[in-house]
Amino acid sequence: MQAIRWHPPAYDIRVETVPIPEIQDPDDAIVKVKLAALCGSDLHIYRGHGGVDKVHTCGHEFIGEVVSLGSNYGANVQGRPKLYSSLKVGDKVVSPFTVNCGECHVCRLGYTGRCPSGALFGSPALDGGQAQYVRVPKAGGTLFNLSNPDTWPTTLSEQEKQKGLTAIADSSLLMLADILPTGVFAATQALNHPKLQPMLTGRPWPLCFSPEVNPEAQNEPGLTLEDRVLTVAVIGLGPVGICATVSLLDELVTRKLPFRVVAIDLLEKRREKMKAVYDAIDKSGKGNGEFAVLATDEAKDLVNKWTGGIGCTAVLEVVGHPSALTSAYDLVRAFGVVVSVGVHGAPVVPYTGRQLYNKNVSFDFGRCPARAMFPPAFELLVKRQDVFGKVGDPASLVDRVVSFKEAPESYRAFDKGEVGKVIFNPWE
Ligand SMILES: [Zn+2]
Ligand SMILES: [Zn+2]
Repeated sequence: MQAIRWHPPAYDIRVETVPIPEIQDPDDAIVKVKLAALCGSDLHIYRGHGGVDKVHTCGHEFIGEVVSLGSNYGANVQGRPKLYSSLKVGDKVVSPFTVNCGECHVCRLGYTGRCPSGALFGSPALDGGQAQYVRVPKAGGTLFNLSNPDTWPTTLSEQEKQKGLTAIADSSLLMLADILPTGVFAATQALNHPKLQPMLTGRPWPLCFSPEVNPEAQNEPGLTLEDRVLTVAVIGLGPVGICATVSLLDELVTRKLPFRVVAIDLLEKRREKMKAVYDAIDKSGKGNGEFAVLATDEAKDLVNKWTGGIGCTAVLEVVGHPSALTSAYDLVRAFGVVVSVGVHGAPVVPYTGRQLYNKNVSFDFGRCPARAMFPPAFELLVKRQDVFGKVGDPASLVDRVVSFKEAPESYRAFDKGEVGKVIFNPWE
């Protein structure tokens, strides 16, 4: 079969003929890949920053069809994740970017991105999905079966769910592998953080955690409406940053929260994309809160103006570079929240203990538990086909679908920021 392979030390992508993967463990599935995407986090290894020296098949975002299952699958299987008893050859599946067993303590808690038996597709530990076929370990705990929507929970009606699955293009469903769950994860962490509780409940800290206490009995002045406005910045407007912004706006509107959002990127091209996406979203997905797209310094000025110099309630950092963490710190208020989903490889974070102490700032770092975030991501995908549905539009996250032959050039152009998200069709 054909596969896109990375060679050390850096910037060396080759399309090679390699053996079709086989079942190695009874929990494995082999998936015939229909589409596989190129992602910003592929660039860490591409550039030689991953500390990797092993040739391997790239890619952690893929959608395809099950062509072979290990011996642990069958209708009679009990006490294991549903897919061990229901997944069949021929089923259409999308995979989160990491393997997760779905049955250990960590997975049961929903922290699937850090399953102790997990592995990242497209790494030296596990060949990736930019190939005609891919082996999926622990597939019954990892995959989502798009042919059998009863295998995951949803708040959508049966009809909406089915309509979503039949009407949505594979290039759009592929966003469920990484970028959309990661965007939703960033927004979810920020908007459910304890530091936001005074604004969300209208009761000051720590009464916000004690609904049984009447704040008026405490002789507190009470929060004003202005006190409760959430000011949120999103730093980094690549595909994940845009997904995070769309998810954030949707959640703010759905929960009827008053807000101001500023989306930030150094590159004008990315800011233009964000503006086109915002314009494409209908009112039900963005509401009436203030929204601006700016470069960093202008964004800092605007946040100062909005908040009288106090700063952002929350900052979503979706870049993965120390300079973005510095900007996040500058933008966030005291008792604020920084949620970082950017992939960080730098040896130190750019803060002193004194800076952290002086702002009472909370940080959430790290990888999205993509499998756990799949159900809300799927719902947002169904709802927001106005931005996630198309390829090559000014408001699309996916710029183009290309053949494997174009892989080396696509990596080069993507690395230079000359193209947006690219999807490979391994059969063209
Ligand atoms: Zn990715
Ligand atoms: Zn697990």
